[in-house]
Amino acid sequence: MTQETISIVLPVFNEHEILPTTIQTLENFVAAQSQNYELIFVDDGSSDYSATIIEHARQHYANIKLVQFARNFGHQIAITAGIRYASGDAIVVMDADLQDPPEVINAMIAQWHQGYQVVYGKRVQRDGETWFKKTSAHLFYRLLARLTDVAIPTDTGDFRLIDRQVAEVLKRINEDDPYVRGLISWVGFRQTAVSYERHERLAGESKYPLRKMIKLALDGITSFSEVPLKLATWFGGGLLGGGLLIGLINLLTGNLGGTGLIAFLLVSLSGLILLTIGVLGAYLGRIFTASRQRPLYIVAKTEGFRQSNSHTLT
Ligand code: UDP
Ligand code: MG
Repeated sequence: MTQETISIVLPVFNEHEILPTTIQTLENFVAAQSQNYELIFVDDGSSDYSATIIEHARQHYANIKLVQFARNFGHQIAITAGIRYASGDAIVVMDADLQDPPEVINAMIAQWHQGYQVVYGKRVQRDGETWFKKTSAHLFYRLLARLTDVAIPTDTGDFRLIDRQVAEVLKRINEDDPYVRGLISWVGFRQTAVSYERHERLAGESKYPLRKMIKLALDGITSFSEVPLKLATWFGGGLLGGGLLIGLINLLTGNLGGTGLIAFLLVSLSGLILLTIGVLGAYLGRIFTASRQRPLYIVAKTEGFRQSNSHTLT
């Protein structure tokens, strides 16, 4: 059997304080493993010395690779690029700040050897993060789970291992504002979790200010749920029903003039308008879905076809 290669993809944005430690820790880890490793650092337009540190490290370690973005495109896009450049039989995505412990990779590989094609890290504990971050993340993952039909596991970030076959499928998905952890759930295949304790950031501060957190959350919801588009329909229907009820009560009580009429018109007309917006939303949702051009289905395996028919394999 030829030796397995594992790619580790690390998105980097202004991490010069921690990068030397990250590189050293990973190289020590990798040296003790039986597999081949490549470390792909995706510099997401850092304005500090991050790229220089990676370039220097390349002189000592042949397995380090650098993809340098021309500007800051964002964490999710950096991960997407890293997966595209990776050549390993399995790809591990992890943060560059060592919050995701490298030892967990061995547990992920063990599950991969069992036949799982996606092994995601599930955080059982998060050290050193603010109450706000933990609570908002907790609520967000549960809200998203309720809003979507895709089984996106709760309390998991982007720390995960994916098999080459899954990576090839992801490479064909070319969405604006990708929500990578959702897409990986969406593609399917055999998935499982390994639990781990998420450590405190060793140095530097979070590159996820509230603005970026909100964007990530909205990307997650709008990529995997049409519920917000349907809200207008529900509100509109409710209001219209209420308006008609007011009209009926007015009729029954003989309150046909002035305020009664105005209340009736105001409530039922607003309902009608909202309902119409909801109808527009429904069509917009279909256009939005179509514009993402996700594959209609993903085939994991076919049997009994001749090679020429293998195009059915996405
Ligand atoms: N990151 C990135 N681009 C960005 C923001 C963050 O590539 O615009 C990287 C960052 O360097 C880190 C990972 O994404 O490796 C996660 O970011 P961070 O640790 O700041 O997020 P937190 O752990 O606080 O949620
Ligand atoms: Mg972090």
